Amino acid sequence: MSKLVSLAVHGGSGTVLRELLSAEDEAKYLTGLNDALAAGSQVLDAGGSAIDAVTAAVVVLEDCPMFNAGRGAVYAANGKQEMDASIMEGLTRNAGAVSMISGIKNPIKLARTIMEKSDFVFLAGEGAMEFAKAHNMTFEPESYFHNEFRYQQWLDIKDTNRTQLDHAHLKDEKFGTVGAVALDVHGNLAAATSTGGMTNKAFGRIGDSPMIGAGTYANNATCAVSCTGSGEYFIRGVAAYDVSCLMEYKGLTLQEACDTVVHDRLLALGGDGGLIAVDANGNVALPFNTDGMYRGYYKEGVKCAEIFKNKT
Ligand code: ASP
Repeated sequence: MSKLVSLAVHGGSGTVLRELLSAEDEAKYLTGLNDALAAGSQVLDAGGSAIDAVTAAVVVLEDCPMFNAGRGAVYAANGKQEMDASIMEGLTRNAGAVSMISGIKNPIKLARTIMEKSDFVFLAGEGAMEFAKAHNMTFEPESYFHNEFRYQQWLDIKDTNRTQLDHAHLKDEKFGTVGAVALDVHGNLAAATSTGGMTNKAFGRIGDSPMIGAGTYANNATCAVSCTGSGEYFIRGVAAYDVSCLMEYKGLTLQEACDTVVHDRLLALGGDGGLIAVDANGNVALPFNTDGMYRGYYKEGVKCAEIFKNKT
């Protein structure tokens, strides 16, 4: 039995410029990330499973209105908040995913229920909503999800063809989405990702976050990965699985594989964003090719949360 436990979380990547973020908001983001690390690490330190740890961490981020997932989801072109999520276990490579749902408090719990209580991997739209009702998921009224800041973001561009990445105060280059990856004391890996997608996204548009292999992947033989960024590029690059493949087929280390995907392969396609990853030895990698990424990790008893690329 491995004794090491590791955890990493993210709350999105993009143009995260210090001058655009108030000290008050910065503190709120860091609190959200630290709360997620606390929830996940508590599970791991008690000998709990990686899948429970990533679920616990993502639930905290979904409940925090600062992040574009669950309660803080952005508005789509139809003025609705539609959410996507996915989760995967490294031991069995079981997975669950959900897309185009609304009103569900914690989409990650629905993805996990699909993984554990159905023969399917991916449910979307009305069928996913029916499944959620049949499995007694918690629903919340529109007022729970309403966020004036995000509503204004949508109003600003709703009559245009533009989509906007979350928190784009001045530039369209900042992403939302939350995720967690973990290694538990039993040597098992897991990954989870949850998002509201992009502001003013077209009706029916689905990004990488609910797609196993693109936004989320876990395999005990290699690593667990959760991505954030322009979803279309992560889908085309099959980014999360690519990290795993580079380790499995080419023998790259976790850091090398992550750097290759984020700094070479995605950039070659024109894709911006980042990812978080852990491997079976407890190594953690948090690469991004944007100005910053809301991120945190817990390793060897040390917790750390950061936003910007450079410390100063
Ligand atoms: N990857 C997400 C999407 O394309 C967006 C994000 O990471 O914020 O839906």
